[in-house]
Amino acid sequence: MPSRDVWGTLERLVLRVTAAAPDTVAPFTSVGVSCVGPVDEQAGTVSPPYLSSWTSFALREQLEELTNKPVVLASAGAAAAEAERTIGEAQDTASFLAIVADATVDSACVIDGQRLRGAHGNAGAIAHITVDPGGLACWCGAQGCLEPYLSSIALEAEMNRPLGRANDSIIERSGLMLGRAIASICATVDVDSVFITGALVDVFGDRLLATARRELATRSRLDFLEELTLVEPVEHIASLVRAASLVV
Ligand SMILES: [Zn+2]
Repeated sequence: MPSRDVWGTLERLVLRVTAAAPDTVAPFTSVGVSCVGPVDEQAGTVSPPYLSSWTSFALREQLEELTNKPVVLASAGAAAAEAERTIGEAQDTASFLAIVADATVDSACVIDGQRLRGAHGNAGAIAHITVDPGGLACWCGAQGCLEPYLSSIALEAEMNRPLGRANDSIIERSGLMLGRAIASICATVDVDSVFITGALVDVFGDRLLATARRELATRSRLDFLEELTLVEPVEHIASLVRAASLVV
């Protein structure tokens, strides 16, 4: 992601890749695109945090003009959920939550085989659940959202060092807040499984997940949440494949 001329760079990349497609491959018929939320699926716009030039950016329309093909746009969390249920580890799970803990936090919910969309396409997003009232400031303007505790951009800014050099107390805190957020949303949406991927999981690993599971067990005391599992899928599905799965 370049800091300037983001659309120009993406436009050139799309043109270069489509021009390089070999003759033996059938031409593509549609485009799936995902972007970190919040998104507006109705309007086809995205407003990724930390990228002010893309506030309410009409990504779908721009891609439709560029490719002359129908474009399906959704959040990165939604793309992760669609990919997990199409080709990933949620193929046999009717109700689950997919979380991407990466540069920012994104998630989506599949209930009874249907991805929840909501009025704008952000249903199931947990990034701005309050996990620590009066806690860290979030880019959204509120305090104590999950986002600053689980976004690599926010954590690296807070620590002033790369994610890989986070100390145990930071990792513990991230796990705690993650467990808290999952407990809140799962009591509401009633899912069997939570699949989590992203840089935070790759870098913090089992220490993050073990703390989150402990906190989740403490906060989720309802019978129907007893079997709830928090898992990191063994097979990582690449972001582009996730985006493509939006049109499958
Ligand atoms: Zn927030």
